[in-house]
Amino acid sequence: MRKKKPKVSPRFINGIPFRGKDLTGLRSGRLVVETLAEIRQSSPVLKKVYWRCRCDCGKTVDVFMSNLKNGHTQSCGCYKSEQTAKAHLTHGGSRVGKWEPLFVVWRQMISRCKNDWNVSYKYYGGRGIRVCDRWLEYAAFREDMQHGYIQGVTSLDRINNDGNYEPSNCRWATVKEQARNTRKNVWLEHKGERLCLTDWGIRIGCKPQVISLRLKRGWTVDEALTIPVGSVVGKLHRLKKHPNVYQGKKPNPIAA
Ligand SMILES: [Zn+2]
Repeated sequence: MRKKKPKVSPRFINGIPFRGKDLTGLRSGRLVVETLAEIRQSSPVLKKVYWRCRCDCGKTVDVFMSNLKNGHTQSCGCYKSEQTAKAHLTHGGSRVGKWEPLFVVWRQMISRCKNDWNVSYKYYGGRGIRVCDRWLEYAAFREDMQHGYIQGVTSLDRINNDGNYEPSNCRWATVKEQARNTRKNVWLEHKGERLCLTDWGIRIGCKPQVISLRLKRGWTVDEALTIPVGSVVGKLHRLKKHPNVYQGKKPNPIAA
């Protein structure tokens, strides 16, 4: 007869039981596990366990358990950024220790998606835009994207504005091209103020898509920014401007 394993009474984190091994004290590279940080129940059967680790550099970071066990994560991120920075300094540049421009693009992309103190975070990481795992490594990003990049002319553009930063969804676009696709680079001047579409949306209390749609349909900037959304004036204006478009339906090209 097989001996029954002694039952371990679970620890509870946020009401979720954890019966796994205590990893406290475990070292992985620069990290030492301090305590169980968080358990996320990502599905009824799947739990994601995070351990709080202290990095040799002094920072603490919560690490996904399997990344600790398989050695994938070995520092708070300081090791990787040290290596990347070292590897991608341009040589013969005007300034000693200047980063190559593509590296700056990569770093900004990561920051927009990962650092909630980044001013643009709310439009990226904050609304679920991720950087694919491959591109967390600068070398991979460089390999995939260095072709077609022209410093100061092209910018990194996501084809689907709600999609992630990943090879299949990214291309280099000129500022003009990008303005057509995304809202963040569309700048509108109104009554002496110049704001991007998103900020205008916040200012007048509507979604930036609404302003963008109005402009696409031929409204003037003044009309797009002053006529309240959903108002009778707005409805009448819409009917006047484009009588074919009724309640968001596209006009039938065959009928027209
Ligand atoms: Zn560190």
